[in-house]
Amino acid sequence: MSASIKKYSVAIIGGGFSGLCLASMLGAKLKSNLLVLEGNKRVGKKILATGNGQGNITNKVISADYYHGDKDFASKAISRYTNTHLLDYFDKLGLLTDSIGQKIYPASFTAGSILDVLRFEIDKQGVDVKTEHYVTNVKKKDCFKIECNNGEAFFADKVVFAFGGKSGAGFLTDGKSYSLAENFGHTVTSLSPSLVQLKTEKEKIRGLKGVKQEANVSLYTDERFVASFAGDILFTDFGVSGNSIFSLSAYLKGLKNPNIKIEFLPTYLKEDLAQKLYQKCDSGFTYEQLLVSVIPTRLSLAVLKDCLLNPQDLAKKQKVEQITRSIKSFSLKVEGPCGFESSQVTAGGINTKEICSQTMQSKLVDGLYIIGEALNVDGDCGGYNLQWAFTTAQIAKDSILNG
Ligand SMILES: Cc1cc2nc3c(=O)[nH]c(=O)nc-3n(C[C@H](O)[C@H](O)[C@H](O)COP(=O)(O)OP(=O)(O)OC[C@H]3O[C@@H](n4cnc5c(N)ncnc54)[C@H](O)[C@@H]3O)c2cc1C
Repeated sequence: MSASIKKYSVAIIGGGFSGLCLASMLGAKLKSNLLVLEGNKRVGKKILATGNGQGNITNKVISADYYHGDKDFASKAISRYTNTHLLDYFDKLGLLTDSIGQKIYPASFTAGSILDVLRFEIDKQGVDVKTEHYVTNVKKKDCFKIECNNGEAFFADKVVFAFGGKSGAGFLTDGKSYSLAENFGHTVTSLSPSLVQLKTEKEKIRGLKGVKQEANVSLYTDERFVASFAGDILFTDFGVSGNSIFSLSAYLKGLKNPNIKIEFLPTYLKEDLAQKLYQKCDSGFTYEQLLVSVIPTRLSLAVLKDCLLNPQDLAKKQKVEQITRSIKSFSLKVEGPCGFESSQVTAGGINTKEICSQTMQSKLVDGLYIIGEALNVDGDCGGYNLQWAFTTAQIAKDSILNG
């Protein structure tokens, strides 16, 4: 390194939520000795897409139960810096927050507000942020040398990998950056898309594309119950989508013969629904007419097909039990998740056995830190992934400033 080339104290690779949180935390001390390298034209592009553009930043209920992958690692980290720390931190940055149910958002219900307060803080501190600098290689001799795709190189005493996972389209998070860690001997656990639509068997859902219903949806592996979520379910031509499905998808990894059972009309007890249908049978309805004003017509046709009943036949009381069972427990075989590009988060990542949970520092390379979604921890739907990115940034910040 020539004497004229500046060496930074810390370089953060990736200007997503974890990288920007860390930059805003370190900036007051390190100022222009802190470098953020982001491959995109702008930092924080993915933040703007979170929570359907509303930015579900954390949740009122946080525990390791809501995390997957290395749960023990997640538990140690999340019990140290949790939702109250995140809310205090963003309160100090000037972000007002509000909630819908357990989910916490900016009070503006605009994800851009999260990015704005982070960018404002980082700008104020004079942190050196370089966009359109995609890092292609990082080496270490006396210090770290970071090479970018535009031919530029930078030097730093400490490096933080905050390059995210393999999820989402158009965010530069395509999984290629794991190789930066692999070059230092780190390993990557098996990866799969999470918080994503599911592909299911097609015949039973034929004709249902576009039907959206409130439902309780439960996931099973063979006949063993795994998890259940309430929310909307949307039928597509390849399977199912919607809030309940996104939530369930976090529990899919590694399951044998996964299948879901959909409980339509969740506010009606099965017995009450059966009673209503028994009464309607007295009026000489066909099966199709029996279900009119109970569930959408296209769904009723799928239910009747499931029960092997002709919609035009006269409804018989002895079939009511079967119809009710199908409405309250409509089962579908799950073929698997949709692809990484449709998913919100990556299950799997850099092996956390190689990372110190007290510091987020690599156990293999002194001065190298790894934070956020890049690690082998992923959260449920509901603000758990931004919380994880914040938590790991906060732990790394403590170590970087004290180390
Ligand atoms: C559509 C969508 C909606 C979501 N909604 C929510 C939500 O409401 N709540 C929630 O908690 N979570 C949500 N998530 C998940 C959450 O956004 C991520 O888990 C979180 O942003 C991870 O933060 P990160 O900093 O680790 O990674 P990212 O935010 O993915 O940031 C990584 C950054 O690194 C950059 N980068 C990658 N490689 C390089 C390289 N080699 N050189 C330079 N730069 C590089 C990328 O361009 C990117 O800016 C959502 C995700 C998506 C896709």
